[in-house]
Amino acid sequence: MLYDNIEIKDGRLFFAGADTVKLAAEYGTPLYLMDENKIREKCREYKSALDAYASDGSCAIYASKACSFGGIYRIIAEEGLGADVVSAGEIFTAKSAGFPMEKAYFQGNNKTDEDIRFALDCGVGYFVCDNFEELDALDRIAGEMGKVQRILLRVTPGIDPHTYDEVSTGKVDSKFGVAIETGQAIEAVKAALSKKNLLLEGIHCHVGSMVFDSDVFVRAAAVMLGFIAEIKKVFGFEVKILDLGGGYGVKYYEGQGEIDIPANIRQVAEYISEKSVELGIKTPSLRLEPGRSIVADAGITLYSVGSVKKITGYKNYVSVDGGMTDNPRYALYEARYTVVTANKADSPLGLTADLVGRCCESGDIIQPSVGFPADIGRGDTVAVLTTGAYNYSMASNYNRIPRPPIVMVKDGKSSVAVRRESLEDLLKNDIL
Ligand SMILES: *Cc1c(COP(=O)(O)O)cnc(C)c1O
Repeated sequence: MLYDNIEIKDGRLFFAGADTVKLAAEYGTPLYLMDENKIREKCREYKSALDAYASDGSCAIYASKACSFGGIYRIIAEEGLGADVVSAGEIFTAKSAGFPMEKAYFQGNNKTDEDIRFALDCGVGYFVCDNFEELDALDRIAGEMGKVQRILLRVTPGIDPHTYDEVSTGKVDSKFGVAIETGQAIEAVKAALSKKNLLLEGIHCHVGSMVFDSDVFVRAAAVMLGFIAEIKKVFGFEVKILDLGGGYGVKYYEGQGEIDIPANIRQVAEYISEKSVELGIKTPSLRLEPGRSIVADAGITLYSVGSVKKITGYKNYVSVDGGMTDNPRYALYEARYTVVTANKADSPLGLTADLVGRCCESGDIIQPSVGFPADIGRGDTVAVLTTGAYNYSMASNYNRIPRPPIVMVKDGKSSVAVRRESLEDLLKNDIL
């Protein structure tokens, strides 16, 4: 199957060594499953490649917006990765799970004064500063709190990663960061260096997501190293950290592109060493911020079929008990997925239908034109693969639908990591 943690035995789909049909019966549906060993394997892949090829102190930082809940920060901490956090909510979750906050990097293009105060109070290791107003506000608030805060400065290198527009962020006209090309980035460095309560340690960029081209990070590194050399020339200041962001793509369906991440890290790290010598700068320590590639294939979602509607001469629909509330990615940007009928996994496919959710919205499509067994019907279990990234973290309560639980599977055993939301949870903040 698509990944080595997915297999079909006796006509049933197994995930991370566990029978998904049994798990659906035990925990109910919709259900997010996550494979803990797969998450750890991915973390180690990044760690060992960076340890082997990149300069001392280099490390991977898990972009936790891809999938954020208490238990995952514990796994990430145990694997020795840092964590990107983008809101007070992610900071609070990480801290509550015991994540070492000095390894947290606070991202985002609009951090409020309240966010800044909260993050400083929690001891976040780095702020990745996005704009001039943030530099001013952070300097002022850090001063009030008697702190000196380490920062990276987010810049846009003007790289188009050739992915979807919605997930492309490294271009000059992006809402994120300050542009090198327009001269604003060097002005922002000047501003950062002038702040008493800020300690500029590095520069950051993030070119986009679903990157499969092996030269994207080398091209980004080329622009960023040139900028580091310019900073040295103009201010006599050595930048210590080069953060190239996240974005490695993952395979959602057979035939999609793939990228050998350790090989690419090696290529990028070697380029950085050579180019730094050529430019006469100290080789910066490298940061990468993988989100999707750490968790995507460590997750699947299970649903129960409620109805099969055949509109003769037009089209067919298979409706399940979840939808855009637990996976909005097709509705947002027509994301593709592989779908398996978990309890009839070896049956020949005899029906083509759109897999749709239960929300009151015709755009509530999980995946169009899916092949199902001809006899699919109410009570069957459908699995959508590769849903570990940007599913739970993007889930909503539209139509007052409670969010599904996350069940961790490890060595064939399962345990609840996030409980299913209850109807009472939905009312928690309502004044009745
Ligand atoms: C989204 C994001 C990431 C992670 O991107 P993936 O494609 O999930 O690897 C990393 N860094 C920043 C700043 C981001 O916004």
